[in-house]
Amino acid sequence: MSLLLRRISRAATVGIAHGFGEQTKWNQGRRIPFGAAAAISGGVAFYFYGFSSPTMAHLDEKGEQAAGKVALDPEKWLQFKLQETARVSHNTQLFRFSFDPAVKLGLDVASCILTRAPIGEESEGRRKYVIRPYTPISDPDSKGYFDLLIKVYPDGKMSQHFTTLKPGDIVEVKGPIEKLKYSSNMKRKIGMIAGGTGITPMLQVIKAVLKNPDDKTQVSLLYANVSPDDILLKGELDRLSASYPNFKVFYTVDKPSKNWRGGVGHISKDIILKGLPGPTEDSLILVCGPPGMMKHVSGDKANRSQGELTGLLKEVGYTEEMVYKF
Ligand SMILES: Cc1cc2nc3c(=O)[nH]c(=O)nc-3n(C[C@H](O)[C@H](O)[C@H](O)COP(=O)(O)OP(=O)(O)OC[C@H]3O[C@@H](n4cnc5c(N)ncnc54)[C@H](O)[C@@H]3O)c2cc1C
Repeated sequence: MSLLLRRISRAATVGIAHGFGEQTKWNQGRRIPFGAAAAISGGVAFYFYGFSSPTMAHLDEKGEQAAGKVALDPEKWLQFKLQETARVSHNTQLFRFSFDPAVKLGLDVASCILTRAPIGEESEGRRKYVIRPYTPISDPDSKGYFDLLIKVYPDGKMSQHFTTLKPGDIVEVKGPIEKLKYSSNMKRKIGMIAGGTGITPMLQVIKAVLKNPDDKTQVSLLYANVSPDDILLKGELDRLSASYPNFKVFYTVDKPSKNWRGGVGHISKDIILKGLPGPTEDSLILVCGPPGMMKHVSGDKANRSQGELTGLLKEVGYTEEMVYKF
C-alpha cells in the first residue's frame, strides 16, 4: 500500500469501520487492499464536506437533504451497480456494490437484504427471477457502498450468477430484513457459533460491538470450517482479536493441515464449555451455519420461527431465550 493510501486509510478509519480484509485483492484489473478501497471512499467524503465554496455550499445542501435518506427500500427492488469483486477463498468472493456516496445503505444490525436476478427462461411473457437473501458485511455507517461475502456453489443459481457479473453490472436489491435487533450492552457476554458463510451476520454484530468504545460486551466466536483454507477473513478476525480484549476467536476444522494449531472436528460440548459464556441471563448465543451444523448445535429454525432449541446448546443448559438462530 502506498504511503498516501495508508494515510488516507488512517484518516478515514473510524475504529474498525473500514478496516476489514486488508489482504483482500479487489478485482478491477489492479490490486487494491479492501481497507484501502474503503478508505478511498471515506477520503473522498472527507474532502467533499471539508471545504466551503459556493459550489460546495450547494453540495452541502444536497448532502444535508440526503442525510435522512438511505439507499435501501423495503418495498421496492432497487438497482445497485457492482463496483468490484475480490476472491476470499477457493469458493468464496466479496462483491462490492455502489450507490449514492452521500447516503448510507439503511441497515440496522443485524439484518440481511434480498437480491434478485433474472435467471432462466421467460415463461408466458413474464420475466422469471431468482431471489436469495445475503448479509452485508460492510459497516452500516459506510456511505456509498456495501459488501457481500458469497460462497459460490457449483450448481447454485444465484451464487453462480454473481460470478458472471462484471463491474458496472446490476443486481436488484430490496430490504432490509431485520433479524436480531442489536443494541449496545444488551447482554454482558455474547457467544457465537458460526460455520462457513454463517460468519456474515456475526461480522455485523462483532463490528457493531468493537467500533463502539462504550460497548463493553465480551464477544467469543467459535468458527467451524471444513479446512483451514475455508476459514473466511481469518487474518481480519485474528487482527481484531489481537486488538480488542473483548473479542476472542477459536477455529475448528474437519480436515486440519500439517501445521494447524486450532481445534479439530465439529463443534463439541467441550469446545462450547471452554469457549462460550455459560448459560446465564446475561449471555446470548448466536448461531448461524449450514443445516448439519445447526442441527448438531442448536436445532434448525422452523418455518421462519426460531424452532425448538435442541442439540449441544440444550444439553449444556442454555434455554431458548439465551439462543438466537440466524
Ligand atoms: C438470512 C440469510 C442470509 C444469508 N446470507 C448469506 C451470505 O451472507 N453469504 C452467503 O454466501 N450465503 C448467504 N445465505 C445463503 C444464500 O441465500 C443462498 O442460499 C446461497 O447463496 C445459495 O444460493 P444459490 O442460488 O447459489 O444455490 P441454490 O440454487 O439455491 O442451490 C444449489 C445447490 O447449492 C447448495 N447449497 C445451497 N445452499 C446451501 C447451504 N446453505 N448449505 C449447503 N449447500 C447449499 C446445494 O448443493 C444446492 O443443491 C443466506 C441465507 C439466509 C437465509
